[in-house]
Amino acid sequence: MGDYIVRATAAEGQIRAFAITSRQMTEDARVHHQTSPVITAALGRLLAGAAMMGSMMKGEKDLLTVQIQCGGPAKGLTVTADASGHVKGFPSVASVELPPNAQGKLDVGGALGLGVLSVIRDLGMKEPYVGQIALQTGEIAEDLTYYFATSEQIPSAVGLGVLVDRDGSVKQAGGFILQLMPFTKDEVVSRLEQKITEIASVTEMLAAGNSPEQILEIILGEFGLEITDTLEAGFCCDCSRERISGALATLSGKDLDDIINDGEGIEVKCQFCSQAYHFSVEEIRKMRAGKA
Ligand SMILES: [Zn+2]
Repeated sequence: MGDYIVRATAAEGQIRAFAITSRQMTEDARVHHQTSPVITAALGRLLAGAAMMGSMMKGEKDLLTVQIQCGGPAKGLTVTADASGHVKGFPSVASVELPPNAQGKLDVGGALGLGVLSVIRDLGMKEPYVGQIALQTGEIAEDLTYYFATSEQIPSAVGLGVLVDRDGSVKQAGGFILQLMPFTKDEVVSRLEQKITEIASVTEMLAAGNSPEQILEIILGEFGLEITDTLEAGFCCDCSRERISGALATLSGKDLDDIINDGEGIEVKCQFCSQAYHFSVEEIRKMRAGKA
């Protein structure tokens, strides 16, 4: 089954909820970028989180980018999502090898280390809206929870998980985001807080074969869960020869001359999906001729 996002409400609209199964997009990202397990987990968690955050946006053309810049060996991650379930992303360093953390899990926090998480929302206004926080644990779910609380003043609970198989492929991936509306009664807040401490981790829920609907049912069943809709999701890159060519054409005349003089043309890889585009010397000459 393909990836999809479930949107729901509970407690008569006081809680809004999102859950995702994201195995395929995480596996696609792994294959595109040839990531090692800890980077597969880091990128997969961010893809799942960003896909759900993207699905909160209203406009068809709205774009959301979540970027992590950090001091750990992973150095950083960039993920972009639209409002329709499409995501794409890349790691700054594809292969990081680390021993498991104290819980015996892939050490995503150790791979990221200290750093900054930025959320850039391009809602078609003149300036994009940018929110930024210091990484709290580098485990990504906790960092997004902190982002929602401080940057958007929305009390939230975020759970994200990626299970990597022995051969390095992605066995399961997914997560949830729960958010409390401003009018939520204190009694609902405390009951939900209690519930969150009782549930298994997302990774455990995924390993047990739970769908996004079932994960929401486990957490919010007693709060009167109502599934609103589901949205297909997936890794989707919109790069094209024209777009890459446009980027090349912005190089300086001298840089273009250097490529021409090399005599072999140039291969440019899309950062997001690793698709390679080759441009011949003749094509570069035409770009050069277009410059004054
Ligand atoms: Zn691409």
